Formats: sequence, C-alpha cells, structure tokens
Amino acid sequence: MNGLIQPGGLWVYCEQGPDGIRPVVFELLGQATRLAAAMKCAVTGVLLGGTGSQASDLAQAGADTVLCVEDASLVAADELRHTGELAALVQQYRPAALLLGATAFGRSLAPRLAARLGTGLTADCTQLDIDPETGLLLQTRPAFGGNLMATIVCPNGRPQMATVRPRVFTAPRRDPSRACRIVTERSAATGSPIELLGRVTLGAEAAIGDADVLVAVGQGIGSAENIALAERLAKKLGGALAASRPMVDSGLVPYVRQVGQTGKTVSPRLYIALGISGAIQHMAGVAAQTIVAVNTDPDAPIFQYAHYAVRCDCGAFLREMLDRIEEGE
Ligand SMILES: Cc1cc2nc3c(=O)[nH]c(=O)nc-3n(C[C@H](O)[C@H](O)[C@H](O)COP(=O)(O)OP(=O)(O)OC[C@H]3O[C@@H](n4cnc5c(N)ncnc54)[C@H](O)[C@@H]3O)c2cc1C
Repeated sequence: MNGLIQPGGLWVYCEQGPDGIRPVVFELLGQATRLAAAMKCAVTGVLLGGTGSQASDLAQAGADTVLCVEDASLVAADELRHTGELAALVQQYRPAALLLGATAFGRSLAPRLAARLGTGLTADCTQLDIDPETGLLLQTRPAFGGNLMATIVCPNGRPQMATVRPRVFTAPRRDPSRACRIVTERSAATGSPIELLGRVTLGAEAAIGDADVLVAVGQGIGSAENIALAERLAKKLGGALAASRPMVDSGLVPYVRQVGQTGKTVSPRLYIALGISGAIQHMAGVAAQTIVAVNTDPDAPIFQYAHYAVRCDCGAFLREMLDRIEEGE
C-alpha cells in the first residue's frame, strides 16, 4: 500500500467524458472538502486513465491526493471495467466514503460497485453531511415522490457510497495555489465481458437531462404555435424544450422531452413551466434550482413549488419575453 493514501479517507470518483473530466466531479470535490474537514481526513480523487494536468485541475478544486491508474484505455472503458478497477483500489486503500456523480455512467457504475464490495449505496443525494457524534456520512435524498426527505446512513458497510446528480451543488472556486500528491497505480486489468463497439450520443435537442435551462410546456400552452414559441425561447436562453406527459401522450412533443415520474428527472438551473398544473407525478422529475411558473389559475399547485409565480396566459408571456430578448440583441 502507498503510504500517501491513508485508510478511512474520502474519495471522489473522477469520471471523464468526451470533453474531459465531468463538471459534476468538481461539484463533488467542493462538498468533499467540507465533509473531509468534519471527518478529519483527506480528499482523494480517483482518476482512471487520466493525466497529470487533469490531476492539477482536481487539486485546484479540493483534491489532496489524486490516485491515477495509468492505462489510457480506461478513459473510454465501460462501467464493468471501471467497477473492477475501483473495487481493487477500494480493497487496497479502504476509504471510508466514496462519492460519484449520478450521470448515466455513474448510475450504472455505482450499484455494480456497491454490490461487488458488499456495501450500501444512496442514489441521487441532494445533501451530504457528517454526523458529529458518529462521524457517519448523512446522505439525504427525496423519497416518496419528493414528499419526504430521507436521511440515510450506512453504519456497517464500507465505503459509504453516495451518488449526487449534476448541478445539485455548485463547483468551488478554483484555487491555483493548491497542489496535490499524485499516486499512480497499475491497472488491475480486470477486463470486461462487454465489447464496446461505439457510443451513440443523443442529439442536443434530446438531452433535457443535461440542459441548464428548460422551457417546459403543459396542456395550458394552448396551440402548436405557442409550442414553437416556447422552443424559440428555450434556444434563446441556451436551453431545451421539455413537456408534461399529456403533451407527449397527445403526440405534440416526443417522449425524450417528458419530465416526471414516467419521464426524465431534470436538474436545470432554470425551469420555466408554461401551462403546467404541477401534478405530483410531474414535479417528481423536477429538481431545478429556480422554477418560474406561468399559469392563469391562481390556485394551480405548481405555484407552491415556484420561486417566481407569473399569473398570465402562456402565449402572452412567451411573446413578451421573446420581444424583450430580441429587442436587446
Ligand atoms: C402513474 C402516473 C405517472 C405519471 N407520470 C407523469 C410524468 O412522468 N410526467 C407528467 O407530466 N405527468 C405524469 N402523469 C400525469 C399527471 O398526473 C398529470 O396529469 C399531468 O402532469 C398534467 O399535465 P399538465 O400540467 O400539462 O396538464 P393539466 O393538469 O391539465 O394542467 C394544465 C394547466 O395549464 C393551466 N392553463 C390553462 N390555460 C392556460 C393559459 N392560457 N396560460 C397559462 N396557463 C394555463 C391550467 O390552469 C392548468 O394548471 C402521470 C400520471 C400517473 C397516474
């Protein structure tokens, strides 16, 4: 074992995508720094197949040590290979806790790894803390369709594992003066029974799960023209169009854009809900930082969730917004 990484530390899995380290990794490092101070331990970023310059980025965001597995083929490897590599590292260094991003890859990797290690996993946490008495990781997440917040602990299994959705936390300001130790390990060469033939990326218009801004339409939108205006507004704001289920069921909007219990869970910075009543099955999929609700009914349930409530006709709202934005262009 390398003495630079002590057992009982806090680890962050540093997932890489086609554009480098995923932004959620930096958001997790920000939280990890805070948690590690309470746990009185160090933060280790685990980079499978990464480079030294990436380690420096991780250090600036809070990693005390970066554990690099030197094998470039790991960058694009599948989750089964990453499961094997991470399991080997965890068994060798015995961290107390491991945080992963709840990306598509992370959601597939984390449960496999937890099962392999015989430990627990809390998915989609929205808050993480340390119990001052027990030192356990308090993993808080919405439960029962978002009606309750459940705080979950893992008193026996190790590491305590949690995934966190992208954009739930903000990334810390980078500190260029921070450096870190880099520990390199050889690949455990665990292999995978999957032969990866290629990856298919959904078109930008379909990726509502990754959008920073969503303009969502419901049955109150009124007309196909208004849906087109909503899509225009989404594009102007650098976001995407989303919809409630009836809009999808009626064939007006494709299923890839449906938000809710039987659609996607989204966590944009801004969610503009146009003519959406706010049914529990819809809101179960909305984890936005700011919700603007536009509705003609003052008693619409969506107003209970909204940070900004706009009582007006959606068509009028859309035309006014677009006029103002286009005036300023
Ligand atoms: C098992 C199950 C799973 C489900 N899964 C999902 C899911 O994943 N996603 C989902 O969305 N739903 C889901 N539903 C359906 C859900 O219960 C609601 O029926 C649905 O979300 C309502 O959609 P809506 O808000 O667009 O329509 P409505 O409830 O009809 O609301 C329309 C709103 O528009 C307002 N409005 C009307 N005219 C205007 C105007 N001119 N300007 C502004 N506002 C106006 C009205 O006041 C109203 O509040 C599910 C239901 C079940 C039973």
